Amino acid sequence: MITRSSALLQRPTPATQPLPVQARWQTQLARAIRDPRELCRRLGLDEAWHGGAERGHALFEVRVPEAYLARIRPHDPADPLLRQVLPLGEETEVTPGYVADPLAEAEHTPAKGLIHKYAGRVLLIASPACAVNCRYCFRRHFPYEENAPSRAQWEASLDYLREDATIREAILSGGDPLAANDRRLAWLVERLGAIPHLKRLRIHTRLPVVIPDRIDDALLDWLGGTRLQTVMVLHINHAQEIDEAVVAACRRLREAGVTLLNQSVLLRGINDDVDALAALSERLFEAGILPYYLHVLDPVAGAAHFDVNDDDARTLVAALREVLPGFLMPRLVREIPGEASKTPL
Ligand SMILES: *Cc1c(COP(=O)(O)O)cnc(C)c1O
Ligand code: SF4
Repeated sequence: MITRSSALLQRPTPATQPLPVQARWQTQLARAIRDPRELCRRLGLDEAWHGGAERGHALFEVRVPEAYLARIRPHDPADPLLRQVLPLGEETEVTPGYVADPLAEAEHTPAKGLIHKYAGRVLLIASPACAVNCRYCFRRHFPYEENAPSRAQWEASLDYLREDATIREAILSGGDPLAANDRRLAWLVERLGAIPHLKRLRIHTRLPVVIPDRIDDALLDWLGGTRLQTVMVLHINHAQEIDEAVVAACRRLREAGVTLLNQSVLLRGINDDVDALAALSERLFEAGILPYYLHVLDPVAGAAHFDVNDDDARTLVAALREVLPGFLMPRLVREIPGEASKTPL
């Protein structure tokens, strides 16, 4: 078994010292690479990549923690993990139909940081920050860093949830909700658990994948301690993202009673072939995670180069169905503003 520390040792001469793998997740997050040139250097990408990386970074800053970097093959500009985090000059291109707020979420916010779009489910923005900045993200144009929820904002959201007995599920989202500290999350989840009509707590997060050490005792305390049924929807786009540390984090989550699901985004040049998608489903299941959604890209400005058109997406999924058992098939969906659910393709 290749451990993460030996993977770090195999890296080309790093510009900065790799972190000891034992560093707390907060430290790992704080020390994430935020300089596009350093990212290129660390991965052995030549000068040709630097200009584009800087132009993309000016629009949406680079953020890549060491634990994620360690899973990227150096000297390979086509690496499927690298392509998710390396800014490219293409991001500055203007493409008709690609806009800043493709989901028009501003229309569904009865309280600040709360989105109630679908029956029975309410989404709370629990943290504005993310552990990694994914280049295709539909949130790339939001000034999220300025909008960390305050105590008063939480109280208003909790009031909203208490007053509507049709709500059965609270969804923590972001940003990445697990970028918030455990004290804050424990406080919130305790109050959610005290709302009688709530049945489920769902957390949409990429942190257990990006920094697996995030799944620590402090987190398992509040997550394993709530009376609510707990579901975690991870966000993994490629099998190569699931290393042994991710598998171990998932094991701890399942032992705490958490149901693990995964959503992916279909991304050109990253996972838009049958072999990659089949390997992802198989690897997810090995880690105890069931595939849930495969999203087509939201048309966000700066991400058009990742788009896979609908016909190709349908053809891919049909071919995938021929090689996978039904329970490993993600549902191919699109988010259309104004619809009552995600829309199957
Ligand atoms: C995607 C989403 C949900 C959850 O939808 P499911 O189909 O239940 O996974 C809930 N609220 C909002 C605002 C969403 O975007
Ligand atoms: S919200 Fe998710 S997809 Fe977007 S940058 Fe954060 S982790 Fe990546």
